[in-house]
This record gives sequence, structure tokens and C-alpha cells, in this order.
Amino acid sequence: MDAELEMFADSAAAFFRRECPPERVARWREAGQVDREVWRAAGEAGLLGVSIAAEHGGGGGDFRHDVVLFREQAKAGVEGLALSLHNGIVVPYIAAHGTEEQKARWLPTLCSGELVSAIAMSEPGAGSDLQSIRTTAVRDGNGYRLNGAKTFISNGQLAELIVVVAKTDANQGARGTSLLVLETEGADGFRRGGKLDKIGNEAQDTSELFFDEVFIPADHLLGGEEGRGFFQLMAELPRERLVIAAQATETMERAIATTLEYVRGRKAFGQALADFQNTQFVLADCKAKATVARAFVDGCVARVLDGSLDNPTAAIAKLHATEACWAVVDACLQLHGGYGYVNDYPIARLWRNARVERIYGGSSEIMKLVIARSL
Ligand SMILES: Cc1cc2nc3c(=O)[nH]c(=O)nc-3n(C[C@H](O)[C@H](O)[C@H](O)COP(=O)(O)OP(=O)(O)OC[C@H]3O[C@@H](n4cnc5c(N)ncnc54)[C@H](O)[C@@H]3O)c2cc1C
Repeated sequence: MDAELEMFADSAAAFFRRECPPERVARWREAGQVDREVWRAAGEAGLLGVSIAAEHGGGGGDFRHDVVLFREQAKAGVEGLALSLHNGIVVPYIAAHGTEEQKARWLPTLCSGELVSAIAMSEPGAGSDLQSIRTTAVRDGNGYRLNGAKTFISNGQLAELIVVVAKTDANQGARGTSLLVLETEGADGFRRGGKLDKIGNEAQDTSELFFDEVFIPADHLLGGEEGRGFFQLMAELPRERLVIAAQATETMERAIATTLEYVRGRKAFGQALADFQNTQFVLADCKAKATVARAFVDGCVARVLDGSLDNPTAAIAKLHATEACWAVVDACLQLHGGYGYVNDYPIARLWRNARVERIYGGSSEIMKLVIARSL
């Protein structure tokens, strides 16, 4: 952190207070998605593409700005608005792998909030094992015909620009995979399925997507060269995983803070819960987990900046932070007794929302595979 980042954190916090008050977030939860206007407001406030160069309409910051933004959002308890996906995952694909024309075309609209983005990798039959995807993009005149189905796609209902992982050569594994950018407006044959009914993060629209002979112009092939998709995915994975790890560290801090407040107020057997040694030991253990995870994740953020963050180290960060987070939210919920099971209490939502962190962006088991391979 430095003075400029502190100021950025303050302005992000002010945005969340102003634009995402708890009543509005509650409405998003009921609707199963955020409203479209909040994305434009985030763009106007300069919160989209904060690490993208100013010449492309971005904030001209770096990865630290993204992490600060995601942490402020988590601190404010704002669910549904998938800034970490847009800023932390999809927009960097275009910035890092797009041709100059593609960057000039898409980055300004992604940074202004005119286009909301998504990335469609997972399919009904392939999640962890991405090489087995079956969506195809077959050359047709001056473009491609896209066919297939995706599932679990965050921003699936709202996204207007979707980076789709597809096979441009179905006979090859990694080398036959490409990333194609679909602009959904007027895309014949593109259909959004219903929102998935999830156990947490209800304000986030997670959906199936269907492609039936959807035409994608040839110049929407990311980077302009077929067969680069897997390498582009691999290049971005460490940062994506770190984004999830950083969110997990913030969740731990929030869980501890809300639990401290609760155990100081709640009495049992004539004393505050906070006075039981068990409560103190459990919270001490949570604090130790959170502190160590945060130090490691912050070290990895520095390594993103100097370009030295490798895949196994990012996998360690995600595995450790998300598993620690799960242990912490569960222990904190336990200290709430029955109230921890009631959605009115923040710990209940933290617990439900944290569960997915061990699954998406590569499950804990896949993180172990990546780490084991490096030993
Ligand atoms: C809320 C939510 C949002 C998501 N958002 C997106 C999104 O925006 N875009 C997108 O493309 N995807 C998204 N996903 C999908 C997510 O990335 C996948 O769910 C995840 O990668 C796991 O894939 P899967 O569900 O197919 O599980 P599977 O791959 O079927 O795995 C099932 C179980 O088997 C284990 N397993 C698999 N392979 C191995 C192995 N080799 N060794 C040991 N164990 C193994 C896994 O760890 C897991 O425990 C999202 C998922 C959720 C739940």
C-alpha cells in the first residue's frame, strides 16, 4: 500500500456505500442478479479496468489497484457485482492477448461499463478437465460457426462480451483450443439458459449458455492466431487464482470481526461468550490462519507486479487461503450457535458464499495436482 492506493481504497469504499447499500444488494439477491446500471456507475466512478492503460480507457494502475478494489468490495459486503471477474479475469485476457485492433475496440467499452464481460470455459461435461471441452468453432468464410454449451458462467445473464473457449481443431487437445470473443447483441443462435439456483452468492447470475451455429467474425479470434487458447489460459491462471485467494483473506478478516462483535455481546452461563477460553482459542487460531494467509497472498501480489508469480505458487496461495477461509468461517459460525444458521447474521452469508472458493477457478484438488507436479 502507498498513499495513492489508500486514496483509491477510500474512493472505492465511498462508491460501495453510495451505489451498493444493503437494501440494493438485498434486491439483487432476490432478483438473482445485479441491475445493469450499477456497472455503468462503476465505469463512471473509474472502477472498471483500473489496471488497464489510460490510453485504452483504463485507470492506468496495476494489479494492486484491483486487489484493493476487491478487498474494499468484500469489506463492504457487496455481493453479486462481479468486479473480480470483469477486472481481474476477463479484461486482462483482452489486454494481454488481444491484437492492437482488438484492444482498441473492446478495452474502452469494457472500462466504461458499456460492455459487461464473462468467460465461458466450463461445460456440462468438462470443468477441471478443460482439454475435454466439446464446444467447437469451425471456420466458415470470413469467420467461425460456434456450436456447443457452457455452464456455471458468472455474469451469464448480463454479459454482452463473452470470451468463449472452443476447439478450432477438434482432433487436438490443448493445441486445438482457441479463445473467441462473442458480442452477444444480435448474435443469432446464442441463447442464455436460466440462472442456476445456488447455495450462496445469490446476487450473482450464474448460467448455462448455448451456441447454435453462432457466427463469430474471424477478427474476434483473440490474438488472431488459432490454437493459442490453452496457452493464453495458462498465462492468466496464476493471477486469476490469486484474485480468489485475496478475496478469501478478506472474508477471513470479516468473519473474525463480526464474530468478535457477537461473542462480546452474547452471554451464556452468566458470562460473555468471549470470556470462555474456548472462544478465545478458536478466534486466536482464526486470526493466525488469516494473518499468515494474507502475508503469503500479499507476497504473491508483489510477484505479479514483477512478473515472477508462477503457477505452483499461485496454486499454493489459492489452496491455502481458501481452505483456511473455509475453516475460519465454519469455526466462526459455530461460535454464533443457532444464530449462525440464520441469514440475518453476516456470518451465515460469509459461510455460504465462501464454499465455492474451494471449487471454482480450479478446485483444491486441482491446486494440489499443480503443486505436486512441481515437487
Ligand atoms: C458459482 C460458480 C461460478 C463459476 N463461474 C465460472 C465462470 O465464470 N466461467 C467458467 O468457465 N466456469 C465457472 N465455474 C465453473 C468452475 O470453474 C468449475 O465448477 C470447476 O472448475 C470444477 O469443475 P466441475 O464443476 O466440472 O467439477 P469436476 O471437474 O467434475 O470435478 C468434480 C470433483 O472431482 C475432483 N477432480 C477432478 N479432477 C480430478 C483429478 N484429476 N484428481 C483429483 N480430483 C479431481 C474435483 O476437484 C471435484 O472435487 C463456476 C462455478 C461455480 C460453482
